[in-house]
Amino acid sequence: MIYHLGLGSNLGDRAGNRARARARLAEEGMAIRNSSTLYETEPVGRSDQPWFINQVVEVESGLSPWELLKTLKGIEKDMGREVSVTNGPRVIDLDILLAEDTVIRTEELTIPHPRLAERNFVLVPLAEIAPEAVHPVLKRTIRELLRCSKDRSRVEMIR
Ligand code: AMP
Repeated sequence: MIYHLGLGSNLGDRAGNRARARARLAEEGMAIRNSSTLYETEPVGRSDQPWFINQVVEVESGLSPWELLKTLKGIEKDMGREVSVTNGPRVIDLDILLAEDTVIRTEELTIPHPRLAERNFVLVPLAEIAPEAVHPVLKRTIRELLRCSKDRSRVEMIR
């Protein structure tokens, strides 16, 4: 299965945390097929915290979505992410954004990620590596979702 994953960090060595999480994905047997540039992004929801570093990666994995979620939570835990406030600061945040045309809607796991279409910090890096991917619920491409996004928070490419 091809997955698009979101990586984010806004605590400590943000770029280093992101790099370590990405290395852990490979150690867990995922083949990283593509990676977006890094972006520095304005926090959405709570502005009293540092900006994030965000990246989207495309991986190929034999894990089911549920197994992948468990693996991602394990990586977050190992990297010292404490149970934290919604939209609050974090060492690492790992999200399953897309799993091809799979749709899952449960309390523990929702794919596509429920806030994907409302967040420029996801849409901008995702559109960089998968502009033609179709959101299987909204039936729109990522490029279209970005064009129509009402999110005004800032997303700046790190050069
Ligand atoms: P967050 O604090 O934003 O990282 O949310 C973490 C919680 O969201 C986890 O406990 C997951 O069970 C849940 N969740 C639901 N859908 C997803 C998804 N597509 N990717 C990652 N976590 C998800």
